[in-house]
Amino acid sequence: MTEVINQRRIRTIDAALRQRARSVIPGGMYGHLSANALPPEYPQFYQRSKGAHVWDVDGNEYVDLMCSFGPVILGHKHPKVEQAVAAQLARGDTQSGPAACMVEAAELLVDRVTHADWAMFAKNGTDATTICLMVARAATGRSKVLAAAGAYHGATPWFTLRPDGVTPEDRANFAYYQFNDIASVERAVGVAGGDVAAIIVSPFKHDAGSDQELVSPDFARQLRALCDRIGAALVMDEVRAGFRLNDGGSWEPIGVAPDLSAWSKAIGNGYPLAAVLGSAKYSDAATRIFVTGSFWFQAVPMAAGIATITAIREEGAIRTMERMGALLREGIESLALEAGIGIRQTGPVQMPNLRFIGDENFARSSAFSGAVADRGVIVHPRHNWFLSAAHTEGDIERALDAMREGFQVVREQFGEDN
Ligand code: PMP
Repeated sequence: MTEVINQRRIRTIDAALRQRARSVIPGGMYGHLSANALPPEYPQFYQRSKGAHVWDVDGNEYVDLMCSFGPVILGHKHPKVEQAVAAQLARGDTQSGPAACMVEAAELLVDRVTHADWAMFAKNGTDATTICLMVARAATGRSKVLAAAGAYHGATPWFTLRPDGVTPEDRANFAYYQFNDIASVERAVGVAGGDVAAIIVSPFKHDAGSDQELVSPDFARQLRALCDRIGAALVMDEVRAGFRLNDGGSWEPIGVAPDLSAWSKAIGNGYPLAAVLGSAKYSDAATRIFVTGSFWFQAVPMAAGIATITAIREEGAIRTMERMGALLREGIESLALEAGIGIRQTGPVQMPNLRFIGDENFARSSAFSGAVADRGVIVHPRHNWFLSAAHTEGDIERALDAMREGFQVVREQFGEDN
């Protein structure tokens, strides 16, 4: 447990790869996995992964609390998923038509997710959210979409985080509301002039760089009622939270069903699979739109999806993530107290989110997460983290050992808060 403490990791192979990458990859790296905006203690390139652990290209081992930003829910290389993948790979993957497992995967999702009567498959979360909005527009004949201000629903010009490469026209059909504030949704309906095809929402507020916020059941019910009143589709973006909060739809426990939902990340335990689920009312519109992709019908990710979704229930994965997440949260709380550092932990424990008080520029969280990475634990300074069902008490203990030192580093650099 303690062998990683005080050991500074050597990353010469990573440094050489980064240098080569800068010559042939714009900026050396792009997108959410870019380590360019991370503290220097982070590796960019990884070599292998198993269970709750990852190894960088220099062979340094880490407890992985990012789980590939969500896709890995059962742990890297889960035996049942790998078996299903190997069996399907031996038969065929990218073929001239889908395999039988596409129907099986659709049946499984329709069975698991209460609101769903049908399923379509693609690759990324962005595919799924985009298809949801297309189905909603095809069904309603309307253009406008309401989204929560600050929410992320994919790397399309509609939602991408940066203005470069995006035209005002790309966003002309969007109006924004505040999560958990129904009056602001009503105002956005007014701004849209009633021409609302869809209201898109995430199961809880998980905007990067912010505190997380659970949904108020009243807000969820009012949103459902509003969509029914104005004839708009309620679209649930389950891409990040799907299957981590509830074994099926995230709002199922509060009894609010969306019309359409977008899934990806965790549904294939790391294999590239996205799904759009919808209610019967929207199946005609889903039949009419044309969406496709060269790799969308691959059989291996669908076999992985079936094995993953089955194992999530059979192995009680959500319960394990909740238990480990609670241990981590309690541990962090007492470490911060012990170090005299003010923090806030928000949202579901299985998707931890740590913010330092008064840390608007993320200087404290960067010092903390860099120190923690250097001590063998991968977290993120601005984005929520992810537990998997492979995390053990030993992993959490190891993470907390590293974090104890992380808080000391913050204290040395910024002083005590109280
Ligand atoms: N919606 C949410 C809530 C997400 O977190 C993400 C990815 N972080 C997406 C959509 C887009 O998914 P992808 O990156 O797979 O396209």
